[in-house]
Amino acid sequence: MPSKSQLKTGRLALVKPLAVALIVLGLGTLAVFGLPKTNKKPGLTCSGKPCNVILIVADTLAAKHMSLYGYERETTPFLDEFFGKEGIVFENAWSNASWTVPSFISFFTSRLPSDAYVERIEDSLSESIPTFLDILRDEGVQLQYFHVTPFLLANRGVLEEFSPEERVGTLDPLLVYAAGDWIRAQEEGSNKKPYFALIHTYLVHDPYDPPEKYRTLFDGPVQYPGPVFDGTMFQAMRQPGGPTAAQVERYTRQYDQEIRFLDDVLKDFFSDLPPSTLDNSIVILMADHGEGFWEHGRFLHGNSVYEELTHVPFLLRVPGAPSRRISEPMSLIDLAPTLLDLHGTDRPPSFQGKSLLSVLKGDPLDEQRPQAESTDVQWPGKQEFATLQTVVRTARIDIPRDRAIRVGPWKLISTLTGQLEFYNLETDPAEKNNLLSRWQQLSEPDRNKTADLFEALDVPSPKLQSE
Ligand SMILES: [Zn+2]
Repeated sequence: MPSKSQLKTGRLALVKPLAVALIVLGLGTLAVFGLPKTNKKPGLTCSGKPCNVILIVADTLAAKHMSLYGYERETTPFLDEFFGKEGIVFENAWSNASWTVPSFISFFTSRLPSDAYVERIEDSLSESIPTFLDILRDEGVQLQYFHVTPFLLANRGVLEEFSPEERVGTLDPLLVYAAGDWIRAQEEGSNKKPYFALIHTYLVHDPYDPPEKYRTLFDGPVQYPGPVFDGTMFQAMRQPGGPTAAQVERYTRQYDQEIRFLDDVLKDFFSDLPPSTLDNSIVILMADHGEGFWEHGRFLHGNSVYEELTHVPFLLRVPGAPSRRISEPMSLIDLAPTLLDLHGTDRPPSFQGKSLLSVLKGDPLDEQRPQAESTDVQWPGKQEFATLQTVVRTARIDIPRDRAIRVGPWKLISTLTGQLEFYNLETDPAEKNNLLSRWQQLSEPDRNKTADLFEALDVPSPKLQSE
């Protein structure tokens, strides 16, 4: 229920209809869109206080490999229940970048990668580009980042957004349990400052090496053939004729087994938290990008803007908010404005994303045109991983990149070699049937709806070409 002080404010008109709606729906009234005491705008309160935020980033978790998103293998039974039955599922969330650093910098700044970097993409951000972390910190929110060491030393652009006191580095999955201990201490301790906990797990990232009990899942062999490393997949790529179907199946299965492992770790994590945690916090689970299994002649990530890399989970638990599935496309740059809105804090003008606060309250998500980018060099022509990494890490902001934009089911890709691809993801989710040459035959409403995708990517539209 709204607190007495909230009821006294002139914001009651805003607060009350929602509170009433929640009561009518029997969905609990822990969260109301009230007025945190130090801010100008109505944010979201949890149990009468500013909400904590627990953000779990499952690195490299592709939506298409989760049963929650319709995958045929039961990879995420816990998440299916936890978010699918009692949370908000964004069915068409896009990562704006295809690998870790640009993706994080993008959702930290709410800017597309090409608009966010200073010089090299491994660098820390310019002071002139605010992140939502900077703003929350200024607002008195306690930040805590749980990350893998030493792997993340290679991703120092992400790490440096946090002060040394704000980081806890350990191994996976221990970092998830360390985060649980820390959250428990906050819930049970005397420190009542709101917190933002970022849990960044690499459990499903390569090498795909699931613990023993998962190795026979999904028709796995009795004899475990060993971990799949990036080098394993590069070697298969270089074979005459490329990787065999059996190799692709093995890599995919071991990745799927790791997802099931992650699902169990998260189940343990949530069941060990004090029950008050979910009343006091907004929980978000997402991925920074997906993973490729030869759908378009590529493995791993950082090398395309096809759905296997761009389509990521974006799942929320918001106290009191109704469970929903939202099919309208959005992208991860919407996270930062949403978090600031939840906190009742103004967004900086640099943010390009759109707040989802009204969507969490039950409004429909307006039509958006999310974009994604990948700075990769050509695959599979690029033979060595080391070379690829060198090229990616030293890339300037103005290097060519694959770019994609979508509206509704329509997706336009402009590759770094200048090729255009145009897909209908509803009828062709695997992106196999390039409709570009048939654009003129689309219905007039579809042509009108998609004409500005070409402008947005600064490529000639088929309409202009025919005139
Ligand atoms: Zn990543």
